[in-house]
Amino acid sequence: MTNTRFRLNITGVIQGVGFRPFIYTLAHKHKLTGFVCNSSLGVEIEIQSNSIYDLDQFCHSIESELPPLACINSLNKLQIEALTEENSFLIVESLTDNETPETFPIIPPADSSICNDCLSELFDPKDRRYRFPFINCTNCGPRFTIINNLPYDRSNTSMQKFALCLSCASEYSNPQDRRFHAQPNACFDCGPQLTFEPGNYKGEEALAKAIQSLKKGEIVALKGLGGFQLFCDATNSSAVAKLRLRKHRPTKPLALMIQDIDEAKKYCDIDTSSHELLSKSKRPIVIVKKKDKFALADNLSINSNQIGIMLPYTGLHYILIKDFSGPLVATSGNLSEEPIACTNNEAMQDLKHIADSFLMHNRDIVLRYDDSVAHCVNQKPVLLRKARGYAPDAINLHFVCKKNILALGGHLKSTFCIAKGKQAITSQHLGDLDDVKAIDNYHDVLKQYQNMFKFKPDLLARDLHPDYASSLLAEQMAKEFGLDCILIQHHHAHIASCMTEHQLTGPVIGVALDGLGMGSDETLWGGEFLLCNFNSFKRLAHLAPVAMPGGTLAIKEPWRMMLGFIDSFEEESKNRFEPFFERLKQNEKEAKIALVQKQIDSSLNTPLTSSMGRVFDAVAALLGVCTRQLHEGQAPAELESLARPHSDLQIQSYDFDLIETDGITQINTQAIFTAITSDIKSGLSNGLISFKFHQTVKKIISKACHKIRLATGCSVVCLSGGVFQNRLLLELVEKELTISNFKVYFPKAVPCNDAGLSLGQAAVAAHSR
Ligand SMILES: [Zn+2]
Ligand SMILES: [Zn+2]
Ligand SMILES: [Zn+2]
Repeated sequence: MTNTRFRLNITGVIQGVGFRPFIYTLAHKHKLTGFVCNSSLGVEIEIQSNSIYDLDQFCHSIESELPPLACINSLNKLQIEALTEENSFLIVESLTDNETPETFPIIPPADSSICNDCLSELFDPKDRRYRFPFINCTNCGPRFTIINNLPYDRSNTSMQKFALCLSCASEYSNPQDRRFHAQPNACFDCGPQLTFEPGNYKGEEALAKAIQSLKKGEIVALKGLGGFQLFCDATNSSAVAKLRLRKHRPTKPLALMIQDIDEAKKYCDIDTSSHELLSKSKRPIVIVKKKDKFALADNLSINSNQIGIMLPYTGLHYILIKDFSGPLVATSGNLSEEPIACTNNEAMQDLKHIADSFLMHNRDIVLRYDDSVAHCVNQKPVLLRKARGYAPDAINLHFVCKKNILALGGHLKSTFCIAKGKQAITSQHLGDLDDVKAIDNYHDVLKQYQNMFKFKPDLLARDLHPDYASSLLAEQMAKEFGLDCILIQHHHAHIASCMTEHQLTGPVIGVALDGLGMGSDETLWGGEFLLCNFNSFKRLAHLAPVAMPGGTLAIKEPWRMMLGFIDSFEEESKNRFEPFFERLKQNEKEAKIALVQKQIDSSLNTPLTSSMGRVFDAVAALLGVCTRQLHEGQAPAELESLARPHSDLQIQSYDFDLIETDGITQINTQAIFTAITSDIKSGLSNGLISFKFHQTVKKIISKACHKIRLATGCSVVCLSGGVFQNRLLLELVEKELTISNFKVYFPKAVPCNDAGLSLGQAAVAAHSR
């Protein structure tokens, strides 16, 4: 009988996921000969048989029985000449180098939570890994948190120092075993070990001490997957208060780790999409609604009906939470916005005034990763912080980068993006670049990425704002390496990021609403309606600029912003804000208020802004909801929480004015503030006023989009910018625009906040001439 032979070339997430052993097993099952090996683009397979049926079955099974962490992007099949002598199927070493000039090296999947097989072994007293905190297999476990370099081999990870014992080595080298080539494979005999401080306790004793510490209401710093986490009893409000005080985190909600979904449902309302997101192997923190009667500490999330929860994702977490038997606060191991501690020494030093005790181990964390954060918007999962489990991943581009582009992102919630050919990779969340530690960490991670992905930029992109730490770095690199650096407008980048994710080419109506970003006219923008494609944009509508007394100080103190809005009124109509001033005087010294007033009158350190984020702040101040923000985005989050219970009501929105000058529409919000003062006077609740305000913002967006569609014929809308972290607003806007036959897109896989800027910058740079 004649033999038939095929060559298959497969791309996707197919290295470091047990793909080759899977193919090996499958080939043996169908009695095929040939080989499988890693190639420069993915995996190459040759198969041969005298049965076409078996060959077809094999090809079919590749896609239908794929290992859990694998993901196929493309599969090309080509018939080639059959060999005369071949009697086995082998896994062979890759012959080619793992890279080409046009693509990045093959990227293994990001870190993954413990799989069900490992979880049942973990709690099986007969298993040799019973209660082994570092249990993993090819289908689960750490990846980028332990990788020094690519390709993903044990020698390139922090597992290198642990020599495999005989049992582990035989699993590692057996293609039929679940742990075949599981790089972090280990057991009690050969793997990492736990330590508890103070006292230098090891193993089970260390665990018992940690549980004792938690039960006493103490704070335990635990070495997690991507960095240290701080744990305490979530039912103990004085433990939570202590954590808040020591961590300098007075108000920002704290996340919870809960044993399983059933337990989580006791405290929170969890819809189907959040349920699915919580249980996925990426295990992000998911923001959900607290039950009206919340049975845990009342200071976990203050002035908010939402809370972030996550399920355990490592063996260590599972053991800890099972032994403690109750929900735990699990927050990043850092002081306010600093990078999270990741070495034992760093933790013992940086967290010594926060944690009472330390549960650590001797496997090094190579790359620092915070927990990722997500929520569901109209039943769709949306990432708010892309970190552990999600980064890095290769984003497939629908255009080609002719140069190797490095885009340095923004200043807050910073990330960078490297792009070449038809791929872009964005870094994990690197935090606000306000202090030396954060900036150093940004540098370090950038260096690690350049080394790991063998990436050398030949074009740089940065934000227009010259003072962002990322902009300064871009200029420094441009000088040092003699590279061009393209300056990209902040809101254009927000929209380009959304366009890239959804593979749109434009033109689109870009609705970019955020805190602040430098505009092309050097004023501060943030309430922008842009007609965008990748290489240019037109500003067709925006909020009317108002004074922002004290510059960035007005962000921390929203009452200043309210004074800015009051200033835009005619003198005779300012008296309606008397009640606001009365209340303000109870909280702020009269001299200080007078000083701010003077600042506005003389335009001293009082830039103008068209930001939508600042309108939210001012409304929160006017309502007395939040006059000082103790964490970023506090005022709008509190307004959203107040409004949410009323979200099913049919309610009128406030009026506003659209004023057209030189083809640009200015949206004047004065009438909103006037109407709110009347509603306050007539005793309407803050919740209802806040919901009316959300409806108004929805109407502003809708009206502006209608106007732009009429003028341009464009009906594709991209919504982006930090304001859209507001789930209520985004849900209202998506529904409203969809009903009006707009095609609506918003960022899901890349955050809508400033973490998304770097991808947008890279896309704009790729289209620059
Ligand atoms: Zn596993
Ligand atoms: Zn072992
Ligand atoms: Zn922004």
